[in-house]
Amino acid sequence: MALGEFDLIARYFSRPSRRRDVLLGVGDDAALLAVPPGQALVAATDTLVEGQHFLPGTPAEAIGHQALAVNLSDLAAMGADPGWALLSLSLPQADEAWLEAFARGLYALADRSGIELVGGDTVRGPLVITVEVLGFVDPALALRRSGARAGDLLFVSGSPGEAGAGLEVLQAAARGGPAVAEGDRLVRRYRYAEPRLELGRALRGRGTSAMDVSDGLLGDLGKLCAASGVAARLDLDRLPVSPALSRRFDRTECERFILRGGDDYELLFTLPADRAAQALPSLHAACPVTCIGVMAPGAGVACLRAGAVVDVPPEGYDHFR
Ligand code: ADP
Ligand code: MG
Repeated sequence: MALGEFDLIARYFSRPSRRRDVLLGVGDDAALLAVPPGQALVAATDTLVEGQHFLPGTPAEAIGHQALAVNLSDLAAMGADPGWALLSLSLPQADEAWLEAFARGLYALADRSGIELVGGDTVRGPLVITVEVLGFVDPALALRRSGARAGDLLFVSGSPGEAGAGLEVLQAAARGGPAVAEGDRLVRRYRYAEPRLELGRALRGRGTSAMDVSDGLLGDLGKLCAASGVAARLDLDRLPVSPALSRRFDRTECERFILRGGDDYELLFTLPADRAAQALPSLHAACPVTCIGVMAPGAGVACLRAGAVVDVPPEGYDHFR
């Protein structure tokens, strides 16, 4: 590497911490962090591999954003407040323009969400980015996948499906199809997913269960059902089809993106039916949410159209399939 490992870290990934609970950040053998009393530490990690999690040629700024966003989304799904992040970078070369843009994307989201980069590792190798995040939550209020009960109402945040559609728009362009328009909303939603941290906080003490949707709503809902030991009745007529989707795709395509598209990073969650109306204003203040069904005794996901069960095969994205 033209730029040495030490200089690279010093130039792009060291800056004075903005959090008082960082007793020691980047630069020593490890970070020293003060965990707030009474809170549980919430830990999550996610790895991005070029070609697998992002397309070759993705702007580095978007990769920096995505690497942190997918992790923050896990904290949001637990109802946690973000605290600290660690970054393991495997880079084919120390390309300064790439590093500058990557750090810009990562820090922009870090600053907005209040998380601080406190350490990491830097090696030469294929382009692989691993971020680990640490956050806090009162353990009595943490949101889990396992808390849904029969009768609870099922909700999804924001506009699922847009990111999956954005990925297809990019893939079509890569195959020689229509070029991607500057500022394309769907592509932006794919590259710059917004972790629903505010909503996660608003769900603390209100939601009975929550998870983030990364591998397609239908498959992920199946995981929530299995963890909770209940079934879901998903009302296809209630799926939130965003204007950006419906302008460009017919209803069947929109539904396919919403049910099976990945990379949404929306929250799927349940509320007790008798407390939903009271909770909704605070949830909506954080992020728009839509009731898309109800939990029921039994197992698995039943899809309904006009009140009748219809057959929808339930596969989502699986790395090993
Ligand atoms: P060690 O050999 O002790 O693991 P390193 O030379 O790998 O130390 O790292 C030096 C310091 O820089 C450590 O504090 C480490 O956490 C930090 N660091 C290394 N790479 C990164 C990175 N990509 N982002 C943030 N901090 C990093
Ligand atoms: Mg190291």
